[in-house]
Amino acid sequence: MVKHSSRIYLSQSALKQNFRFIREKIGPHPIISSVVKANAFGHGIGTFVAMAEKCGIRHFSVASSYEASKVKEALAFDDSKIMIMGILYPEDLAWVVENSIEFFVFDFAQLENALQVAKQVGKSAVIHLEMETGGNRTGLPLDELEKAVRFMKKHKKHIRFEGMCTHFAGIESLANQFRIQRQLKAFQNMYKWVKKLKYLPRVRHTACSAAALAFPETVMDLVRIGTAQFGMWPSPDIYNLHLLQTGKVRDSPLKRVLTWKTDVMHVKQVKKDEFVGYGTSYQASRDMTVAVIPIGYSNGFPRALSNRGHVLIHGKKAPVTGLINMNVFMVDVSHIPDVVVGDDVVLIGKQRNITITIKSFTEISNAVNNELVSRLPTAIPRRVVR
Ligand SMILES: *Cc1c(COP(=O)(O)O)cnc(C)c1O
Repeated sequence: MVKHSSRIYLSQSALKQNFRFIREKIGPHPIISSVVKANAFGHGIGTFVAMAEKCGIRHFSVASSYEASKVKEALAFDDSKIMIMGILYPEDLAWVVENSIEFFVFDFAQLENALQVAKQVGKSAVIHLEMETGGNRTGLPLDELEKAVRFMKKHKKHIRFEGMCTHFAGIESLANQFRIQRQLKAFQNMYKWVKKLKYLPRVRHTACSAAALAFPETVMDLVRIGTAQFGMWPSPDIYNLHLLQTGKVRDSPLKRVLTWKTDVMHVKQVKKDEFVGYGTSYQASRDMTVAVIPIGYSNGFPRALSNRGHVLIHGKKAPVTGLINMNVFMVDVSHIPDVVVGDDVVLIGKQRNITITIKSFTEISNAVNNELVSRLPTAIPRRVVR
């Protein structure tokens, strides 16, 4: 096997602990759906799905029929279910129904298509009505709810009303609470309508990670957990709420699943006043030693970390010097003795007593951290460790 320029390690015990913590927060009843869109947030969809199944997870959510096909390839248990929350092309509908893959419906025309296809395939279409509650992304408006429910009731031989759901618009931030509370009220009101029509979905669900961890009123029959299962807090607000609720000063019940490593490619002495790498963004203020790292922005290391990021070598932080190039960057190792070609370099993770967390890339918003992990290239080999 030809060696790749970096390696990703996934911790089975960290994942197990994260699901245990999430289960503690939501109680024994709700189904945990593991959200594995975006290549399982960059962790590697096939590897990650198998790890989650080992933890007892039997429900997976994705953003497209393509991702659903990737999950299906990885599943080892017959009773594991797949749910598509996003794009489902009409030409994939027959495959989806054939394989009993569940999907969101947010437009009445999709119900009519589902009926047609279900009849052709000879199997029920398993649908989740996604409701418009104020997020204004996808969602069926209230005034089409009655029509949709009556349609499903009439065609219950071919359409299974599996779920009714919505998604909150930024519940991880306390600043959005007013809008979130209105969404929750709107959803509850819609459910009342459905009750009046005497035709109920099997499950109701609204909660993502932040909702499941901090807002119990949003936890219904199923939770859709992305961020938290990977050991990442959705935001500082949610972590602080957890501390408030538990009365602790510090706690780390969520464990980072991912470690990303590479190795030193070259070591070079640089004289005072010389520039390092392309252009003039870094000038040596003294004689220094730099290590060359065989990773760049094409490998998922953000260009925004030019002159700002850090890596770990020999258990010490080595700052990025100069620009992140397409497949290489330099770090200052003047303060780290005896660095040689082939030494271990940690890009994300722990080395001796020091850790580079995913959060450390930006304290501003977890969206950026999600962006970083979800862009880790599929080609990097993933290995499961204890
Ligand atoms: C991505 C996504 C989730 C998971 O969100 P996290 O905050 O990462 O847990 C849940 N529901 C929907 C509809 C999503 O798109």
